[in-house]
Amino acid sequence: MIEELKKTIQEYLPDGDFFLLEKSFNFASHAHFCQIRATGEPYINHCYAVAMILTELRLDIPTICAALLHDILEDTLVVREELKDEFGEEITLLIEGVTKINKYKFDNQEVAQAENWRKMLLAVVKDTRVIIIKLADRLHNMRTIKFLPPEKQEKIAQETLTLYTPFAHRLGIYKWKGELEDLTFEILDTEKYNEIKEQWQVRTESSVKNLEYIEKQLTEKINSSKINFRILARPKNLYGIYMKMQRQEKSFSEIQDLFGMRVITDTEEHCYQILSIVQSEFEMVENSFTDYIAVPKNNMYQSIHTTMLGDNGMIVEVQIRTEDMHKRAEYGIAAHWRYKESFDKKNTEPIKSFDAESHLEFIKHILESKDSDEFLTAIKTECNFEQIYVSTPKGRIIKLPEGATALDFAYAVHSDIGDMCMGVKVDGKIVSLDYKLTTGQTCEVLTRKNIKPTEHWLDIVVTPQARSRIRKYLRENKK
Ligand code: MN
Repeated sequence: MIEELKKTIQEYLPDGDFFLLEKSFNFASHAHFCQIRATGEPYINHCYAVAMILTELRLDIPTICAALLHDILEDTLVVREELKDEFGEEITLLIEGVTKINKYKFDNQEVAQAENWRKMLLAVVKDTRVIIIKLADRLHNMRTIKFLPPEKQEKIAQETLTLYTPFAHRLGIYKWKGELEDLTFEILDTEKYNEIKEQWQVRTESSVKNLEYIEKQLTEKINSSKINFRILARPKNLYGIYMKMQRQEKSFSEIQDLFGMRVITDTEEHCYQILSIVQSEFEMVENSFTDYIAVPKNNMYQSIHTTMLGDNGMIVEVQIRTEDMHKRAEYGIAAHWRYKESFDKKNTEPIKSFDAESHLEFIKHILESKDSDEFLTAIKTECNFEQIYVSTPKGRIIKLPEGATALDFAYAVHSDIGDMCMGVKVDGKIVSLDYKLTTGQTCEVLTRKNIKPTEHWLDIVVTPQARSRIRKYLRENKK
């Protein structure tokens, strides 16, 4: 396994710290020794699989090491100090971040709560790599979910769909998003999933010959131009088809664009040359041409889209793009590889090598940039402008203004709880009522029947809700 992992990373990071990588692998296999997953495999297989998934995004060595070690704090006897001594602060912080996410249990199915949960996560997790590791972890758990008891499967699938797939979407890792969606779809609505899958297969079988015919024609025409290219038949995810059926209130048979072809080539110029070949050799569907190369989408997606009519009557959407554009379409901004150029003494040509550091900076920049999309703008606004997110021991996330105190929290849980608030436990420690909360804390209210609000409480709270409730109590009890 370690050799396979090294080989994969070497392709994009030839001068990586492979000693550290191997050390992490050995440390993890040792710590998880004798632990078996529900699949019956040794636990280290899971750690390895998560690391391998992350190489798809060409992540740096510390991220891959953290992936190998990601379950160590939770599932073994190894403690933080030991990790820090062995692997340093950076890797330890990543592992701690992943462990911390696991602690925020999410039992609530409300959409608004899910949104709060994600916002809190982004606020708590300073390093984007933590979220990406967690996504890869979830992807592998979903791939092996069939080995768990059915109730558990359903709970995890539901959580994946409400919490994690939106992250994959925002990060633009569409390949993972599509897979996560189909894996959860199969569990949450097995009947519908099978129905669509079956129809899809029937339709594919009847279309395969037609598609192959068009592919062959297309290949011949482009071949005569001596341009480098490859053709991919477009995989559509089943959940995406299902969503489209619901959105447009259509049956499966009415969904037209199930089939597409991608022509992938080396340069932008060749994209346009291929386009003109397609246009001159085939009949085109009117108004079907969109040039996302000249005008990229907001998420930096680039491709030429056009729809052609084969002489066998089949309608096929054709997407033309370069290899770089293709990677970006599959892995989004996370695939916007950064390269640094260096010069070899003997060579006058610059050598391009993958620059993991600025690659990550870039991902972070996009995640944090205000105009990348509405969601992120919203988070930024909420996070920067005085919002904090704390959680109850049961995982309910409560949004409070910055400066909110333990007593505000009690009132936010419930006004009756506020009235009887004796103290609050924050992350396990009892704090005073005027203690100022920060995002990410877990708070538990301690109540006692004979406790009553006093005038002094008005100086402690900052939320209007708590203030008015205390006033109301004081007013009614004056009489
Ligand atoms: Mn795990």
